[in-house]
Amino acid sequence: MKQPKTTNDYIAREEKYGAHNYHPLPVVLEKGEGIFVWDVEGRRYFDFLSAYSALNQGHCHPRIIKALNQQASKLTLTSRAFYNNVLGEFEEYITQYFGYDKVLMMNTGAEADETALKLCRKWGYKKKGIPENQAKIIVCEGNFHGRTITIVSMSTDPDSYGGYGPFTPGFVTIPYNDTDALEKELKDPNVAGFLVEPIQGEAGVYVPDDGFLKRAYDLCKANNVLFMADEVQTGIGRTGKMLACDHEDVHPDVLILGKAVSGGVYPVSAVLADDDIMLVIRPGEHGSTYGGNPLACKVAMEALQVVKDEKLEENAERLGKIFREEMKKINSEMIETVRGKGLLNAIVIRPKNGKEAWDVCVAMKENGLIAKPTHQHIIRFAPPLIINEEQLREAIEIIKKTILEMS
Ligand code: PLP
Repeated sequence: MKQPKTTNDYIAREEKYGAHNYHPLPVVLEKGEGIFVWDVEGRRYFDFLSAYSALNQGHCHPRIIKALNQQASKLTLTSRAFYNNVLGEFEEYITQYFGYDKVLMMNTGAEADETALKLCRKWGYKKKGIPENQAKIIVCEGNFHGRTITIVSMSTDPDSYGGYGPFTPGFVTIPYNDTDALEKELKDPNVAGFLVEPIQGEAGVYVPDDGFLKRAYDLCKANNVLFMADEVQTGIGRTGKMLACDHEDVHPDVLILGKAVSGGVYPVSAVLADDDIMLVIRPGEHGSTYGGNPLACKVAMEALQVVKDEKLEENAERLGKIFREEMKKINSEMIETVRGKGLLNAIVIRPKNGKEAWDVCVAMKENGLIAKPTHQHIIRFAPPLIINEEQLREAIEIIKKTILEMS
């Protein structure tokens, strides 16, 4: 094939040579800076997806890129067969940052969730005394924790699990936001853990009732069960606090992080826990070739420090309120619901004249803002947290204009 020139050429090449496991919006990006991206035809867009909240610090944050470059020319990977001089520095940094004894480094969110599940099962056998192979983990309907076979075994979304059986056993599903159901399932002495997203992002930004996390945490404690928070999408300032669990002063037994831990620059994920839990995994029992490599560690250290220095969670809290207020003011039948916390928000679209959430996203793109539907009728809005009020208001105008034009 010839060197592509237009948007359609680039799309055709991907279609021809790439697996069809995504359905992207028809825009081909070639450059990103801060809250903006540019396509191959030179058009600029507000990025209102932020790579599913991996880019909380914005595209190509200069401090993170500098850290990447400095370390890239020195030492990138050692594997964990040897020590390196950066991993310990980062481990000390991130454990103090979030208040845990230990961290276990991986690369993707799914791997971090897998790590938490293994940790939880092993803790169940070694510490809680659950009989061999009997451990259960409670999960929620509508969950999204990634794409591995075990993780899709916990999923209730046919798009995620369909055609991938046989599935990993050992999971019990309860409705999200339902502490009565949790309390009932916790009576089973073979339950080792409860895995929960503090807000269900992929499902469509479902925010549980105030007090849900605290009550769920207390129930877990009362039953000697690990409370495991998947903050891969909600963590690192996204919802207006450093962690979404901070809204209810809950300190999870096992904290699962990914995405914005490294500011969209490099895949880094992490599981944090105290010694009593983390030390049940011994040498040779879990790991990853790239997990904890020096490049990842330097990038993540800078990315986390940027969030603190730039007070991004405070910005998310303040601007999130403005965003939801303005969305609620849009006078259109197409807006069924507006919900969210901090700068993790969604609107539910009521289809009109055959136009659905996908069509709204295509039209917003034409007007200079990119976002993507999650499930059929929900559009998630999650700009980089470095956005300022003036930029946010400009973006809000684009969303308003687009929806009013279609209504
Ligand atoms: N957990 C949550 C809550 C997520 O939102 C995601 C991805 O969207 C994952 C885990 C999986 O992360 P990754 O795509 O890096 O494997």
